[in-house]
Amino acid sequence: MSGSPVRPQPETGPPPETAPAPPGGFGFQVGVRLDDQPGRTGLIRTPHGSIATPAFIVVGTRATVRAVQPRDLVELGAQAVLANAYHLYLQPGPELVEQAGGLAAFMGWPGPTMTDSGGFQVLSLGAGFKKVLAMDTAGLVDDDVIAPGKDRLARVDDDGVTFKSHRDGSSHRFTPEVSMRIQHQLGADVIFAFDECTTLMNSRAYQERSLERTEAWAGRCLAEHARLTAERAARPYQGLFGVVQGAQHEDLRRRAARRLAELEVDGQTFDGFGIGGALEKENLGRICRWVTDQLPADKPRHLLGIATPEDLFAGIEAGADTFDCVNPSRTARNGAIYTQTGRYNVDTLANRRAFEPLEPGCDCSTCAQHSRAYLHHLAKSKELLFYTLATIHNERFTVRLVDDIRHSIEQGFFKDFRADFLGRYLSGRRAG
Ligand SMILES: [Zn+2]
Repeated sequence: MSGSPVRPQPETGPPPETAPAPPGGFGFQVGVRLDDQPGRTGLIRTPHGSIATPAFIVVGTRATVRAVQPRDLVELGAQAVLANAYHLYLQPGPELVEQAGGLAAFMGWPGPTMTDSGGFQVLSLGAGFKKVLAMDTAGLVDDDVIAPGKDRLARVDDDGVTFKSHRDGSSHRFTPEVSMRIQHQLGADVIFAFDECTTLMNSRAYQERSLERTEAWAGRCLAEHARLTAERAARPYQGLFGVVQGAQHEDLRRRAARRLAELEVDGQTFDGFGIGGALEKENLGRICRWVTDQLPADKPRHLLGIATPEDLFAGIEAGADTFDCVNPSRTARNGAIYTQTGRYNVDTLANRRAFEPLEPGCDCSTCAQHSRAYLHHLAKSKELLFYTLATIHNERFTVRLVDDIRHSIEQGFFKDFRADFLGRYLSGRRAG
């Protein structure tokens, strides 16, 4: 680590407990705090309803959680859905979603929605770096050839990103202004600033340059958001979250968080913050803590792309309020079932005659009505219903876990609950 770490600024008084709701009904209120950590409960208010936090937000990339109806999402306790600006821009187009009355109305979802900016997708689909986010990157530094052997489909410059569609190879360009316009047309309650997502393989010098760019883009997003909000004043207010990058560098993460928290353009500040980019799994809690140390207590924080139980506990303890991840549904479609004693594959021979539920004690509609043997059969037969039933279980598992963590904070037994849950989960995983 080079450079001196930036310390949190002294507080000038007790942190405000509540944030006044701006016109249009977006706001955040802190509830119960952990004694010795930044973790807390809270309530995000949006024009389409409230989100009790901590909360797991289910991912419906293309305005659908694959194979699952919105009414099933309601039943499994999902509080909000996060869709993707890049995918909806390419198909069906933001104008069409706007004509339909916005994302929630278009997809028939009765609650709050979020969209991410498209920055991660245009860069990762273009450069192919999604595959290396989880790699052991020790000793690797590479700013140019991120996906060797693959044609690079995205080019970043200081003004924006030019990329080729993964669908048909057509050329497109996203800038902060374009991303804001698309997300205003999509009309989600929470939208994200357009940022450059780097990888752990990028050099320190590149991370510094990239952060300067992301910060300049954050200012442009605020200006365009203020302009569009004024221009479209009859519509419900959309909360704009700035995204904190900085990879694994403490001073960069802290500086990025502090600058975004202080940023004000045309009277507009960020309504909340995303914590993005590649995170070293073993340092996730610590990195999250560097960031939340610098952020105002009275605004919500969203940790992007996290869903495993140990990561959720670490992120929540460190002060993150909401989470999203495609993994519960993606792994379900591949046959992996989440349980409190770890994951197992339902299509293995051991489940052929297992007439108990996917997880005894689970309160999801799949476990109430169907057996492992039936899901084993559906998986082996490649029946479409398999995707629906398995996804409902995994999404319910993840939503319920975060709900239970919220309850444990409210009732004052977070540490005991974490020790109990992770003890069972991690030992079961080792055994499995
Ligand atoms: Zn279940």
